[in-house]
Amino acid sequence: MPSLDFFTGELIDRKDISDTLAVFRFRIDEQLCFTAGQYTTIGLKCDGEFIERPYSIVSSPYERTLEFFIELVPNGFFTPQLWKLKPRATIQIRQRVVGHFTLDPSSDRHLMIATVTGVAPFISMIRTRHYKEGSNGNHDQFLLIHGASHSTDFGPYRTELEGLCSEGWLTYVPTISRHWDEPNWRGEIGRVEDIVRKHADQLGFSSAKSIAYVCGHPQMIANVKNLLTRARYLKHQIRDEQYFALHDFEVSQTRTRANDQTTQASDKSFER
Ligand SMILES: Cc1cc2nc3c(=O)[nH]c(=O)nc-3n(C[C@H](O)[C@H](O)[C@H](O)COP(=O)(O)OP(=O)(O)OC[C@H]3O[C@@H](n4cnc5c(N)ncnc54)[C@H](O)[C@@H]3O)c2cc1C
Repeated sequence: MPSLDFFTGELIDRKDISDTLAVFRFRIDEQLCFTAGQYTTIGLKCDGEFIERPYSIVSSPYERTLEFFIELVPNGFFTPQLWKLKPRATIQIRQRVVGHFTLDPSSDRHLMIATVTGVAPFISMIRTRHYKEGSNGNHDQFLLIHGASHSTDFGPYRTELEGLCSEGWLTYVPTISRHWDEPNWRGEIGRVEDIVRKHADQLGFSSAKSIAYVCGHPQMIANVKNLLTRARYLKHQIRDEQYFALHDFEVSQTRTRANDQTTQASDKSFER
């Protein structure tokens, strides 16, 4: 049950990007102390039981509200309950924000790689850099490669990040894998793994100078770590934040497929 360890947050804004992606903004009366890139835990009472899950904070510590970019896992425990929330609903937010997925100050070249909601900690880091320095002090450089199936999955962040590129310290490269659905898309196509070397090499994000940060889908993280290792990045130069375990994901996919087959079979028997 929620206790003194939690603040109460009020949902003040919710933007549904698609059936399974939404941006949630909460107001808390107290000041939450954190470093850009860290995560907190959101808790809700579901069927009499208190459930909590960790989420990367999208907002910068300079902002008054807390923002999250969340994907609905249809067979999950927590997110289907979260999806029922309407403005003014309340949730619990852990007071203690944790995590080591923060900018490494030993380097001034930051190669960031994300799939869909994995962009959350990077938005926090980039907004913080923007609020602190704007277009001044361009000694640090950021390259963010953001992958998704469709361009709508980038949510409001594509426009925000493309706008910040004009300040001269950020390069943002969105890429979509289901490009055949979007014949008018003029950006990169394929998965982040397909284009990361090309952009990193072209813009000088080599292992000699850079730190790489990888966040999102566990298979993407494994693939990117392998390819950066082949590009001479050392272990300590590659940081990652994994949202879920690959093994759990495979088990849940098998379960979903089994459920779908059972549903299809019962639909067919119903048709007959
Ligand atoms: C440090 C950290 C930060 C995180 N930040 C975010 C964030 O900013 N945004 C966000 O959407 N999620 C984030 N997550 C994932 C989040 O904590 C939950 O795991 C997720 O929302 C699913 O919760 P659930 O209870 O609905 O599903 P569960 O019942 O916990 O999971 C059901 C199954 O779904 C799989 N699964 C979990 N997440 C996903 C997913 N996104 N896609 C496909 N399968 C999945 C799990 O492997 C599990 O087997 C983060 C996780 C960690 C560890």
